[in-house]
Amino acid sequence: MAERILNFSAGPAVMPIPVLEEVRENLLSLGDSGIGILEHSHRSKAYSAVHAQTQATIREVGSIPDDYHVMFIQGGASLQFAMLAMSLLGSDQTADFINTGSWSKKAIAEAKNCGNVHVASSSEDRNFCYVPTQHEFSANAEFVHFTSNNTIFGTQFAREPDVPDGSTLICDSSSDIFSRPIDVTKYGMVYAGSQKNLGPAGMALVIMRDDVLERCRSENPTMLRYSTYAENDSMYNTPPTFAIYVVGLVCKWILSLGGLESMGARNQAKAAVLYDYLEQSSLFSATADAGSRSNMNVTFVTGDADTDAAFVQQATAAGLDGLKGHRSVGGMRASIYNAFPPEGVETLVSFMRDFEASRA
Ligand code: PMP
Repeated sequence: MAERILNFSAGPAVMPIPVLEEVRENLLSLGDSGIGILEHSHRSKAYSAVHAQTQATIREVGSIPDDYHVMFIQGGASLQFAMLAMSLLGSDQTADFINTGSWSKKAIAEAKNCGNVHVASSSEDRNFCYVPTQHEFSANAEFVHFTSNNTIFGTQFAREPDVPDGSTLICDSSSDIFSRPIDVTKYGMVYAGSQKNLGPAGMALVIMRDDVLERCRSENPTMLRYSTYAENDSMYNTPPTFAIYVVGLVCKWILSLGGLESMGARNQAKAAVLYDYLEQSSLFSATADAGSRSNMNVTFVTGDADTDAAFVQQATAAGLDGLKGHRSVGGMRASIYNAFPPEGVETLVSFMRDFEASRA
């Protein structure tokens, strides 16, 4: 088998080795069932157990209270942009959004198809290199939406924005879900595409409080109603069984490392190695403001596009893959989600030091 290289991809992204090994075991036969995980009917006893186990493990990892539904919905986080607005925002109603970059903008665009959007704060004035702390919320917003980690711009909210009492806070946590402790009770809804911190691409994890579910409009098509998922345990139609299975294993792996407290500490330490180096480098610099920097996607530049390109090319040749920044911003981006190994960050920093020395 080819040797594995360092994969800095923003998603789909690196997976934990113990998870991949367990998946490999179960591809040919799930346990002693004689049928592989990809081949089981979603109504089989064996798969039902997997489905329930993934639900339970997610609840345990996220300390998710009983008055929240845990749903698996196909269409990724992008469908959620539309589905949540179609469900919660009427044409004469207003929703508040914090605009911290490309993904927030996409969520805003979908909401505008349904009702009024009020941008409570934005960091567009400085090309999204920070997360705003001052917001002007409207008086009766149906919900307040924010993107906890901005995959493209390398910024992350250190904690939830302070919203008016009684607000329904909705978070797109696609690129930092389960990377640190989360107090789910502060949210009406949290959602995340599965392909970064959770497992394979192909679905979104949606966590929604009972009262928010009850507010959802019932005229949506069946597959675009949250109640369809809540009432049928995400099995109204054939769910993405393999993705759900693997997400369960990833969550079990998080628990084996000590849960979200230790995952948070591990991610903080990993990112600090890179940011500390960037702080003292005379070639590279971080693009995000201190205080807004992401522990998941570390974005940096040399200030010269040709040098950036040379760096990415040499890094790729040395087995450090996926460091090119998003096409909309350029520069470099190291995505170091939960499963990215701490030693890999050390390797990157040492490679950057050598590159810097070679250019001095
Ligand atoms: N939100 C964020 C923060 C993202 O990073 C992404 C994907 N990179 C999306 C939403 C869109 O997710 P999907 O591709 O699952 O629709």
